Amino acid sequence: MADPATALQVILGPKGWLSGADAGSYQRDWLNRYGVTPLGVARPASAPEVAAVVKACREANVAVVPQGGNTGLCGGAVADRPSAVIVSLSRLTAIGEPDPESGSILVEAGVVLAALHEALEPHGLMFPMHLGAEGSARIGGLIGTNAGGSQAFRYGMMQDLVLGLEVVMPDGSVWDGLRAVQKDNAGYQLRKLFCGAEGTLGIVTRAVLKLYPTPRQQASALLVMSDFAAAVSFGAYLRSEAGEFLAGLEFFSDVGLTLALKHLPDLSYQLETRGDVYLLVELASGSSRVPLDEILNSALEWGMEQGLVVDGALATSGAQRAQFWRLREEQPEGQRLEGEQLKHDISVPPGAIARFIEAGATICGDILPSVRINPFGHLGDGNIHYNLSPPEGRADFDGKAGQFAEALASLATEMGGSFAAEHGLGRAKIAMADRNRGSVERDLMARLKGAFDPQGTMNPGVLVHSPR
Ligand SMILES: Cc1cc2nc3c(=O)[nH]c(=O)nc-3n(C[C@H](O)[C@H](O)[C@H](O)COP(=O)(O)OP(=O)(O)OC[C@H]3O[C@@H](n4cnc5c(N)ncnc54)[C@H](O)[C@@H]3O)c2cc1C
Repeated sequence: MADPATALQVILGPKGWLSGADAGSYQRDWLNRYGVTPLGVARPASAPEVAAVVKACREANVAVVPQGGNTGLCGGAVADRPSAVIVSLSRLTAIGEPDPESGSILVEAGVVLAALHEALEPHGLMFPMHLGAEGSARIGGLIGTNAGGSQAFRYGMMQDLVLGLEVVMPDGSVWDGLRAVQKDNAGYQLRKLFCGAEGTLGIVTRAVLKLYPTPRQQASALLVMSDFAAAVSFGAYLRSEAGEFLAGLEFFSDVGLTLALKHLPDLSYQLETRGDVYLLVELASGSSRVPLDEILNSALEWGMEQGLVVDGALATSGAQRAQFWRLREEQPEGQRLEGEQLKHDISVPPGAIARFIEAGATICGDILPSVRINPFGHLGDGNIHYNLSPPEGRADFDGKAGQFAEALASLATEMGGSFAAEHGLGRAKIAMADRNRGSVERDLMARLKGAFDPQGTMNPGVLVHSPR
């Protein structure tokens, strides 16, 4: 193919190809750290068009970068070279009819998560994945990063919610794995392999997703905890007392609350007491007969008697519940609006959360005294977004970003956890993975990549080193 841009325009038509200024909004990642101007942005309207684009790029030896909502936090959805083509899935937005008897639905990869939630509402069904970026993140991107979010500890990550997949392979052939069953041991678990592959093994075009009945009732509470250790102990107690009804267990700190209230004037905090640590607890049930309020109230009483819970309020309306959730979900936005920040996506065994936060504070304070630490995240699965803002009055981190990242990654590794809990490696963390994971593991990944994509055209420079 002499001129890839012309060939792609012929395949896609005028609506399907953007270049120059028109491609502007696709070029940089959400954190504005990565991305160069690509050859262009292909916007196919169907799975066969995706396949035709990928095949044409392979023939021209052109790199392909799959892009969903571009909310990824590791720079995996933008180009690293001007010759690359971004393949945006944003026009593949069909949502099939849900199947209530099987608890599944067929969707295209460009469906926005919030649009899926909305479409399921009238059917009394839900797709149990919630995250702050759900208004923009798309199904293909959520699969690409194996996203987690606030309900992952109960329903699993994306790989637990995907039953079947259709994927365009790096040579343009199509794998039709659109089966709608949980049990399918006919060989390697290919569908799971594409979850978290960050677009390096192929482009997901359609998926069969697992659905659950919408809970008939919820009980939610916002709590002020005496410290992080208290939050961990109370979380463990709730897991045993509320059992399968525990549906949300999120934490944030007063540093994050202060930033969110400062930058988002429509947010409100209605408890009388402030503390260092807050916990958002939610119980949910598909039956209206389960006494959720009673279970939650008695857990709170126990927590207060033990000195773990300092203050708390149960949501008395849907609006109040939404307010509680916004306090948690606006943590990233509040910190972003404050200015320069460093994000660290850590997981440790849930029982080690408080120890990680304490040890991390000592390490970070030694690197840059008075650095502001804003840990928040998902207590149920030990996922800590250990994010930093510069000391009050400073605009930057004195060139120490790398030191923070390496020290916190080593700490997580030593504690039996991960430095890439739910956001993936992208372009940002390849070297960190090389340092913190054994050579056998990294070599297996490189060989897997080579087996699926021997020419290395599919999202080069993401997840594993690029030979090109
Ligand atoms: C405010 C905020 C809150 C967030 N909260 C969470 C959270 O709680 N939990 C969490 O897990 N993440 C969270 N994220 C990160 C982000 O939303 C997720 O990583 C999400 O899965 C990315 O989806 P996307 O459609 O934006 O993907 P993109 O950013 O477009 O792509 C992400 C990766 O997937 C690949 N990809 C995209 N589409 C496809 C496809 N069709 N086939 C194959 N590969 C593809 C890309 O090449 C890239 O490597 C948050 C982000 C923000 C900005």
